[in-house]
Amino acid sequence: MDIEDRLIRIIADASSASSALDAAAAAIAEDEQSESCGIFLMTPEGRPVLWSRSGAGFDPTRAAAEAAAVDALARVAPVRAQAGGRTLLAAPLLSHARPIGALVVERPIDRPYAAAEMRRLSRIASHIVGIIESVRLIELIERVSEPVSTLAEPPPPADQRERVLHGVAAAPGIAIGRCVFRQLFPRNLLRLDSTSRGAEVERERIRDALQKTRNDLERLQAAIAGELGEEQALVFGAHLMFASDPSLRERVEQAIAGGATASLALDRAVDEIVRRMRLVGDPYIRERIEDLEDLRSRILGHMLGAEHAPAPSTQLVVTSRVTPSLVVELHAHGALGIASELGGTTSHGVLLARALGLPAVIGVKDLAAQAQVGQSLVIDGDQGIVVLAPSARTLEDYRARTEARERARTEFVAYRDRAPVSADGVGFALQANVAFGVDIEIAVENNAQGIGLYRTEFPFLVRDGIPTVDEQVRIYAKAFAAFPAGPVVLRILDLAEDKLVPAGSLEVGRSAFQGYRSIRVLFDYPHILRDQVQAFAIAAGACRLSILIPMVTSIEELRRVKQLVASALLQHPATIPCPPPRFGAMIEVPAAVEIAADLAREVDFLSIGTNDLTQYALVIDREDPRLASPLDAYHPAILRMISRVVAAGHAAGKEVAVCGEVAARFELAVALLAIGVDTLSVTPRAIPELKQRLAQVAVRPLAQAMERILQLSTASELEQALRSHVEA
Ligand code: PEP
Ligand code: MG
Repeated sequence: MDIEDRLIRIIADASSASSALDAAAAAIAEDEQSESCGIFLMTPEGRPVLWSRSGAGFDPTRAAAEAAAVDALARVAPVRAQAGGRTLLAAPLLSHARPIGALVVERPIDRPYAAAEMRRLSRIASHIVGIIESVRLIELIERVSEPVSTLAEPPPPADQRERVLHGVAAAPGIAIGRCVFRQLFPRNLLRLDSTSRGAEVERERIRDALQKTRNDLERLQAAIAGELGEEQALVFGAHLMFASDPSLRERVEQAIAGGATASLALDRAVDEIVRRMRLVGDPYIRERIEDLEDLRSRILGHMLGAEHAPAPSTQLVVTSRVTPSLVVELHAHGALGIASELGGTTSHGVLLARALGLPAVIGVKDLAAQAQVGQSLVIDGDQGIVVLAPSARTLEDYRARTEARERARTEFVAYRDRAPVSADGVGFALQANVAFGVDIEIAVENNAQGIGLYRTEFPFLVRDGIPTVDEQVRIYAKAFAAFPAGPVVLRILDLAEDKLVPAGSLEVGRSAFQGYRSIRVLFDYPHILRDQVQAFAIAAGACRLSILIPMVTSIEELRRVKQLVASALLQHPATIPCPPPRFGAMIEVPAAVEIAADLAREVDFLSIGTNDLTQYALVIDREDPRLASPLDAYHPAILRMISRVVAAGHAAGKEVAVCGEVAARFELAVALLAIGVDTLSVTPRAIPELKQRLAQVAVRPLAQAMERILQLSTASELEQALRSHVEA
């Protein structure tokens, strides 16, 4: 078993939080063939305290090990040291980019640590941050005490007739299957399980459900590691730690002894812990509430829905919010679709669902209260509808629609090898937006003309800790292998609150509107930018690298990023790419529209990010389903801004792309081409249909009418004008 698998097992088997750290230290010492391994945690005053150790435990060299720990944290990089005939290696432990401690190993001086071992220790260090956070979490919540209030009265049970619930269409497609819950659980089922069958039976039920849940999580972790890479594999660390937490078990035992059923006992125990966690200010702890809620839904699912529990391949998931980590899980699990109570249509979890072809409906009010585990469901991601307990007739209609869709798909295939061009000969580039290896495969399958936007955030999001340069190189290299002739446009890490929901690594503003996000965060953490840029260049090798700079608001910021990129490449001569990189600026805030002409002079191309441009120009939080409207993209301000950016880019002799979601919407894509946009970069699954439909429409007449259409003053007038042109 390799060290990462061993760390997963250690979390699962831990009988207490500190025993997990001791076991981790022992496993690392053995794996690194070191005589001692120590985990130092920092006190609030910045003093390292040896928390767990194995082997000789730095007896003669304790002061040197502490100094190495402090040094590694100051440099944000691994360091080597020597003392008392020993050689030491320390790697920093960073959580949310905050120093929390260091991992130190030691062995005799005649076996010094090599550079490869330094890199490896950094990687292991980033994995054990998750364990340390869980330790901290459990101890913190133990310390915060708060009286337990009684449970709220659950709503009455749902009935079995067909019901149609309306939400917002978020990812297209139709999924028919059976309901499971994640991150929330319908309280009405608890009410049905309120009579204890005797303490012994209830204890057995909880043991059985906990064991099944742990098995599920471990299987899932293995599936994710296999499919998406080991960098995502520790995403369930906190779940496993909670599932083994003795204080959770104790609370449940007590409630069962007092006459509660296993399900009510667990529900109450989780409520109590969640309440305590809410009292803690730390954002990391608050994020873990979602993990605990998710664990609750899984355990209760085993206890209460056992007889209805659907096989993974028929599962439709009902959840509170579509987070990227949940979508990763569903994909690895083979689930069919997702419906949520909260979230926005351009949130990153939703973008990911779209990329993976997972139909999604969001913003469905009271969904959890109305659906039941194992119930038959339809998720209609085209119309934004969820049908509970569909009738035979409804199911037949949906099956017919699904078949028609499949037939249409075979027609698109005929266009696979044709160049994208409109019916009247207007050529354009049709590229892919990617985030995962699977997107790259679909982009190749659908014959994309390169990668117009590589969203690099996901490996940073799905677990704690920051991927090492080596890990990043492995990830980005897949894009160059798939599109060696390019273009491959790699976007610099664009962290924002909505992208940090599952497992943040850096502290960013709690609201995207506060503006502390993206390159502004990187200015405070330049080593992350440096590592990423070096990884870009190493991955590109001899291929042409294009670097896209997100959230540009001023020339000063743009120049600062370019300077940081240049010095990162110089610092690491092996990474100096040949040929030199192309730079692109994303236009996604109104200020960038105003200075588009100035920006265009400083870069090689512009790429308009309409998701954020719409958010910032129309003051619409992209995470808020109450504000999601399909008409937003037709707002005259948005289309006029795009038109001005295209004019500014072309005046400077630079190409202009659109990589926001509007580029994949047919009527809007026609409008973008009529405005003069050179490149559409879209989710790769949308390419075949978009290419086929655009090949059947004339763009030039619309281009001639565009000046007049852009003068229309409402979104609905604009939509109608565009639609009538397209349909003519
Ligand atoms: C955009 O904002 O339009 C964009 C393409 O970037 P992201 O959706 O990743 O923020
Ligand atoms: Mg954006």
